[in-house]
Amino acid sequence: ESQLDVARIRTDFPILHQNDDEGQPLVYLDNAASSQRPQSVIDCLSDVYQRYYANVHRGGHRLSSESTELYEASRRAAQRFIGARSDNEVIFTSGTTMGINLVARSWGDANLAAGDEILLTEMEHHSNLVPWHQLAERTGATIRAIPVTGEGLLDLDYLPRLLSERTKIVALCAVSNVLGTINPVEQVVEAAHAVGAKVLVDAAQAVPHEAIDVTKWDADFVAFSAHKMLGPSGVGILYGKEELLDAMPPFLGGGSMIDHVAIDHFTPAMLPSKFEAGTPPIADAIALKPAIEYLEKVGLSQILQHEQSLAAYAHDLLASIPGLRFLGPSVTEKAGIVSFTIDGLAASDVAAFVDGHGIAVREGHHCTLPLHKKLGISASVRASFYLYNTREEVQKLADSVKTTVAFFG
Ligand code: PMP
Repeated sequence: ESQLDVARIRTDFPILHQNDDEGQPLVYLDNAASSQRPQSVIDCLSDVYQRYYANVHRGGHRLSSESTELYEASRRAAQRFIGARSDNEVIFTSGTTMGINLVARSWGDANLAAGDEILLTEMEHHSNLVPWHQLAERTGATIRAIPVTGEGLLDLDYLPRLLSERTKIVALCAVSNVLGTINPVEQVVEAAHAVGAKVLVDAAQAVPHEAIDVTKWDADFVAFSAHKMLGPSGVGILYGKEELLDAMPPFLGGGSMIDHVAIDHFTPAMLPSKFEAGTPPIADAIALKPAIEYLEKVGLSQILQHEQSLAAYAHDLLASIPGLRFLGPSVTEKAGIVSFTIDGLAASDVAAFVDGHGIAVREGHHCTLPLHKKLGISASVRASFYLYNTREEVQKLADSVKTTVAFFG
């Protein structure tokens, strides 16, 4: 049972207090796509624009110094939050997607060649697949993948066969955005390191919901997005081990990322500026800090426990619906994500019908086409929970899905 004072938490999220045209309250169950923001984050954004805004790391005037100080304070908050050893290991990006592309381009192009292998998993989001496909196209490297079992877990029995001295990088999600599976990151990192491979962890669905420690994981790279963790859209973090980032060439070129520029050559800046070309999303990066502080104040372990209890409740209520099949492992083994199909019903019809009851869920392939192909389905419905969701909302979802089935039945 949840320890969170959800009623109190909900008062901090203004967007949740709205009704649709028919007067039905918004039930927001699409948190895996993007979360909502508390007032403190919204206030921070407006505060920055009203009082502190200037370009960062440029010029010595007072306002620029103040915005630079706030920008760097946010980086240090992120560093502490994920357990990084140094703020040089924390790069502001535009999100998970850019973080993975940065590594695939900068580290990948410098370290892979024909005959090398990239090990992925069958449950990856397209943003942790396509950058590696592109890297393979450029270098002639080969893609392999850890299979997913019928229960929606990584089949680690295959690891010894899939890992070899040819493997240069393993890229996996910490939590699946469809199955909710919580992957054994440390175990995969250890096995990968034993053959000399590096590991990138897509932590987009993990950092918002569980306390993570990149140093304990011993991961080489970790990418995540602010917009899924109560922060602004358009900003994210790439963590990388300092010695790796130090040795990597810059990804994007431009202002801020240089030490010196002549008409025909340049030398890159030190970390972390080397990977932050151009004007960053200044206010959004600064407002990541109140998002982190909010999560820390509530407590990540309480948040995960609350979400898991909502997922368990959803499983209980939905399980009796004829033809409804859950994707992924049993509720005790996963995060607060409940995806399902209903025999004979299109996922898009289910989502549209429950939207008519004021309930926001996502339908489709959720940017995981290979996973859906493996599961033999073309689309699914996904309800994903966060700290502000209630048991009453889960009940509404279940009632609505039951009505949908009866309507189409
Ligand atoms: N990986 C996973 C597991 C995700 O859920 C998402 C977001 N749907 C991404 C990567 C991509 O994140 P973003 O769109 O913020 O770059």
